[in-house]
Amino acid sequence: MSILAYTSDRDGQFSKLNFELLSYGRALADQLNTELIALSLGEVDENQLQQLAKYGADKILNGQDKRFETLDNHAFSKAIAQAAEKTEAQIILMSNDFTGKALAPATAAQLKGGLVTGVVGLPESTEPFVVKKKVFTGKAVARIQINAEKKIFTLESNSYEINQSEKEAKIEAFTPQVEDTDFTTKVVDVNKQTDKILLTDADIVVSGGRGMKGPEHWQPLEDLAEILGAATACSRPVSDEKWRPEEEHVGQTGKIIAPNLYFALGISGAIQHVAGISGSKTIVAVNNDPEAPIFEVADYGIVGDLKEVLPNLIEAAKAVK
Ligand SMILES: Cc1cc2nc3c(=O)[nH]c(=O)nc-3n(C[C@H](O)[C@H](O)[C@H](O)COP(=O)(O)OP(=O)(O)OC[C@H]3O[C@@H](n4cnc5c(N)ncnc54)[C@H](O)[C@@H]3O)c2cc1C
Repeated sequence: MSILAYTSDRDGQFSKLNFELLSYGRALADQLNTELIALSLGEVDENQLQQLAKYGADKILNGQDKRFETLDNHAFSKAIAQAAEKTEAQIILMSNDFTGKALAPATAAQLKGGLVTGVVGLPESTEPFVVKKKVFTGKAVARIQINAEKKIFTLESNSYEINQSEKEAKIEAFTPQVEDTDFTTKVVDVNKQTDKILLTDADIVVSGGRGMKGPEHWQPLEDLAEILGAATACSRPVSDEKWRPEEEHVGQTGKIIAPNLYFALGISGAIQHVAGISGSKTIVAVNNDPEAPIFEVADYGIVGDLKEVLPNLIEAAKAVK
């Protein structure tokens, strides 16, 4: 029995979500007194692979194969299922990002396993195996018992603390038995829209709502984000009105994020918005309405006009940096 964590690189680099996944896997492996094995598919150099050990992997399976350069659900899930068989893994972990959400159900089908997506926290019990996930836009917690022998679950992003150690791990070559015909789709072209920090990876997020009053007023928000090394986000009406790109929209119908620090600038704090940010460690809200619901969830609140407050925040951020 072991735990297999599927780690996905982007251009040969692992993101924070993978380190979170491994930190979680490490704690779970310690709880079950078993081994944590990281699986990488694609071309990643040895230095990057050793990063996986620093976050808890006991062993790294390295599936170097050019064909794994871009995601194909069928071929990847087949390879992950084979790695699970090879390592006798009974628990297969993935991040609850787009990749994990695509691969976990396909892998569960291959292994005839039990699947839960968006798990938060370590299992409540391991016999029976019970995990938790947030439901009803974060307003309730569901406890789900996985009865199947193989348990596949995705870890909610930014829900577990990242822990580092000075470990090194053995890297073992892994050659999955996949044919060219298993690669049923091929990404032929990727046009990156931005080189900015990814919203789901960011430690700090600066987010604007309708109170920003229009796209022409966004520069100071971008300036604040740049000084803080933050990603930018927005409320749904802002992306609906095309003030900001759709991928910045957070909330029930957008991205769910949980950064260490979230700035809500001119955002009222509707439940659908809060559903996407309630996992943030610290929320700072700026709003000219002292009754705005965002102040109910904010750790720090500034009642004031953004026209005055935002330049002051920028100066304060510059001074700190
Ligand atoms: C099914 C459904 C799903 C939804 N999903 C989402 C979702 O995923 N994400 C999401 O965000 N919304 C979602 N919504 C919409 C949500 O209900 C709210 O309408 C939306 O979040 C409001 O956006 P806002 O806070 O930017 O705008 P508003 O509600 O208009 O709030 C603007 C705020 O700015 C403040 N303000 C105005 N001027 C200034 C100023 N000069 N200085 C400082 N503050 C100022 C105002 O006091 C106000 O609180 C959803 C709605 C539905 C029905």
